Amino acid sequence: MSVNPRKIYTAYPGGLEKAFTMSYDDGNDCDIPLVEMMRKYGVKGTFNVNSGCCPPERLPHGKKPWARLPLSELIDLYGDDMEIAVHGRIHPTWDRLPSPNAMQDILDDRRELERTTGKIIRGAAYPNGSYNDDVAEILRLAGFVYCRTTPCTGSYKHLPQDLLRLQGTTRNTDPRCQALAEEFVKPHTPGRPLWLYYLWGHSYEFVENDSWDSLEKLLATVGGREDIWYATNIEIFDYLNASRLLRYDIDMSRVYNPTDTEIWLRITRGEDVQCIAVPPAEELQLPE
Ligand SMILES: [Zn+2]
Repeated sequence: MSVNPRKIYTAYPGGLEKAFTMSYDDGNDCDIPLVEMMRKYGVKGTFNVNSGCCPPERLPHGKKPWARLPLSELIDLYGDDMEIAVHGRIHPTWDRLPSPNAMQDILDDRRELERTTGKIIRGAAYPNGSYNDDVAEILRLAGFVYCRTTPCTGSYKHLPQDLLRLQGTTRNTDPRCQALAEEFVKPHTPGRPLWLYYLWGHSYEFVENDSWDSLEKLLATVGGREDIWYATNIEIFDYLNASRLLRYDIDMSRVYNPTDTEIWLRITRGEDVQCIAVPPAEELQLPE
C-alpha cells in the first residue's frame, strides 16, 4: 500500500475550504444599511421575509426604532445577489398552529414571495425559532431545502447535517462572534473538513444595541478574502447537496457529474493537493 494514499474530498467552488453566509429575519428598514454594508465587504446572505406583514407603503416608526418595509421595496433592496426566503406569512409559531394552518401559512408565504420575485423559493427560517417534527416534515414535503432555527452551534468547523433543523454558527448579539471570526480567517489546515461560518440575527438589533460598529468590524474581518466563498444560504446548501450526487466508479478513477452545477474536488496525496472542477453533465478521469 502507498505511504500517502489518495484522498478525494469535496471542496467549495474554486477549490476553497471556507464559506461565509448570513441569515436575517423580518424584512425591515434596518436591512437597508445592513445590505449596503454586506455589499461593501463583498459578503452575501439570505433575508427571511413575512410577506403578510409588509405594509402597502412605508409607515413611520412607532415605538420601535425600526419598521417593516413594503414587499416591493424589500425585493428591490435584496436584488439578485441576496436570497429571499420564507419566514411565515404572518410570523406565526408554526408548531403551535394546527398542522393544516401551518401548511397554509408556509405555502401562502412562499406563493406570495414567488409571485412577487418571479423566483422559486426553497429556503426558510422558523418564525420565533420554534419547530417540531411535523413542521419540519411539512417543509420537506413542500420542497424546502433548509429551514433555520435559532440555537447556534458556536462552531464553524462542522457542516450542518440536518438542514431542516439548521443551526447557525453564531448570532450577532453573541459577544463571541468577533473572536470566532478572527479564528475563522486564520489559515485552514489543508485536508480538514470544510468550514462554514453562518451568522444570523435581526438587523434592528444593530440599532437597538447601537452595534453597527461591531458588525462592520466583523465584516471587515471576514469579508473580501480570496480563500472564502461568500454565498447565500441556498447557494451553499444546493452546492453541497449537488456534490453528494457525483457518481464514481469503484476504483475511484472516474467521476460523472449528473447535476447542473460545477463541483470542485480536492485530491490529496500527503502534502500534494490538486483541485479539480467537475463540469455539469461530464465524466472525468480522476488524477492518480
Ligand atoms: Zn422573525
